[in-house]
Amino acid sequence: MTGPDDVHATPVLDVRDLRRHFASPTGTVRAVDGVSLTIGPGEVVGLVGESGSGKSTVGRCVVRLDEPTDGRVVIDGTDVTTLSARAMRPLRRNVHLVFQDPSSSLNPRMTIRQIITEPIRLHRLAGRAEAARRVDELLRRVGLRPELADRKPHQLSGGQRQRVSIARALAVEPVLLVADEPTSALDVSVQASVLNLLADLQRERGFGCLFITHDLAAVEYLADRIAVMYLGRIVEQAPAAELFADPKHPYTQALLSAAPVPDPEEQRGRTRILLGGDLPSPLDPPPGCHFHTRCPLATDRCRTEAPELRTVPSAEDGGVPRQVACHLVAEDGTAPDAAHVPVTAGV
Ligand code: SF4
Repeated sequence: MTGPDDVHATPVLDVRDLRRHFASPTGTVRAVDGVSLTIGPGEVVGLVGESGSGKSTVGRCVVRLDEPTDGRVVIDGTDVTTLSARAMRPLRRNVHLVFQDPSSSLNPRMTIRQIITEPIRLHRLAGRAEAARRVDELLRRVGLRPELADRKPHQLSGGQRQRVSIARALAVEPVLLVADEPTSALDVSVQASVLNLLADLQRERGFGCLFITHDLAAVEYLADRIAVMYLGRIVEQAPAAELFADPKHPYTQALLSAAPVPDPEEQRGRTRILLGGDLPSPLDPPPGCHFHTRCPLATDRCRTEAPELRTVPSAEDGGVPRQVACHLVAEDGTAPDAAHVPVTAGV
């Protein structure tokens, strides 16, 4: 994790006005609709939102598993948006993705040693003997015995497989790791240990990380900054501690109000903000503010005019500025509290 000064260094990821639209028989699905975010060296940025908010599509566009419809993706100073697969190949060393489900991302016909050696050989980082030594070292570092190197993925547990994908991702020492729900397919009992491993490795090796998740406890633990997505757009961005202490967007307030807190006393004193209805379809997002169909504070203006993502001051003097997209947040950052509005359409 990083300090505020590092955030101003050349970003390892700079995403500008990213759009990913899909044609469907009934119209255009706006999965990602104008997302901008940066990650500084050694910084962990959490991208949170409900399933269907577009957060995984952002991750897939960053690693070019998906082609952006518009906008720019700059990794460590190189614009990779329009690079061919061939031109992209040497740059793949800089960015790696850890998937939600390691079973689908590890080749079942390869041994663990072959899986981790592959990127080292592909980028010509070591000869055979040195690569073998690195594989043993990486396996130990992710908490696996080197003897497991001769097994195939199906002979390992889910947690062990995810440790293998982390080892493979780190084998080429990337400047940026994209982790898409890296623990959500694992048993609850092993989720915390995999998360701890990621946090330790990030601190030790200093790579930047885009951590995509719906798990607020995980993102609070791991992220320096958090961006909240709703229907293809970022609605709020802030340093993690500030976002949790003082969420300004009504959607962020609702998300946090639903997350359990460890202190039973505090839990009893909280008001849960109930949102009406489901996430609308990105095929036909509501006009104006996308959130107006579920927002307890919506006004007539919200139904017709989309709010800009505006910069508002940080709570700390000289702190990293925050951004929020809501008509009701004042220039000085004062925000209404959605918990104190009677809900008429709750679930
Ligand atoms: Fe709610 Fe309006 Fe703010 Fe959107 S702009 S979050 S609808 S108050």
